[in-house]
Amino acid sequence: KEFRNNVKPNWCPGCGDFSVQAAIQRAAANVGLEPEQLAVISGIGCSGRISGYINAYGLHGIHGRALPIAQGVKLANRELTVIASGGDGDGFAIGMGHTVHAIRRNLDVTYIVMDNQIYGLTKGQTSPRSAEGFKTKSTPEGSIETTLSPLEIALSAGATFVAQSFSSDLKQLTMLIEEGLKHKGFSLINVFSPCVTFNKVNTYEWFKEHVVNLDQFPEHDPSNRMAAMNKIMETNGLLTGLIYQDKVRKPYEDLAVGFKEQGLAKQSLELTREEFDKLVKEFR
Ligand code: SF4
Repeated sequence: KEFRNNVKPNWCPGCGDFSVQAAIQRAAANVGLEPEQLAVISGIGCSGRISGYINAYGLHGIHGRALPIAQGVKLANRELTVIASGGDGDGFAIGMGHTVHAIRRNLDVTYIVMDNQIYGLTKGQTSPRSAEGFKTKSTPEGSIETTLSPLEIALSAGATFVAQSFSSDLKQLTMLIEEGLKHKGFSLINVFSPCVTFNKVNTYEWFKEHVVNLDQFPEHDPSNRMAAMNKIMETNGLLTGLIYQDKVRKPYEDLAVGFKEQGLAKQSLELTREEFDKLVKEFR
């Protein structure tokens, strides 16, 4: 079960995305997957390169479109475990429409967002996750927009799995990805993954000081949506851990009428003349 390949990541030394790569590789092995059972689909951005750094099926897609591709892969072959990944700009700006609808559709896909609160690949512009007042070359006087809260949006959109972690906490991050992979439905895992080159505010030190580990609240019930929303708001979106999980709702694949358990590649193509005519008629 070797999910490492011999491609050397070209992320900056110290980039938080290295930990996400390691956590995915460990989690996939820990849940008993083989490389040929996993597909990693990514969008565009520094973090989008991750699909090339894991020994599994991979597709580096287009900006903001990791989720449509990942959902297509899952629909074509539900026997594959599918991870979608990308950055906060990719998923919460240009890709936000896809993100919200993938959440409410609830296909069995694990979506890992490397949230560094800036655009790194294009050399440091304000992203939807940047704080109000954040100064970059695109907002030299400080951002005048509010910060988008992906966890609140996910819960409002009917998410069945919402988690958050931090690149420095490899143990928690690996555990959450394992839980996301095991979850039957769509799982959102937002990861604070510092950009050491362009974001000089939200650094490792800043996150260490500000994140609030859910372990501090042993009374928290992750099946309670209202309690999850309250905890996210009380901690200003800096909560880490498995915040919400609905184990009851079935994934899209189980509810779609006529959707077959077997992957398309394994379904028989042999049809009687009557079956063939019926199929053609359906598509007229
Ligand atoms: Fe990571 Fe930032 Fe470097 Fe991109 S620019 S590789 S996000 S540290």
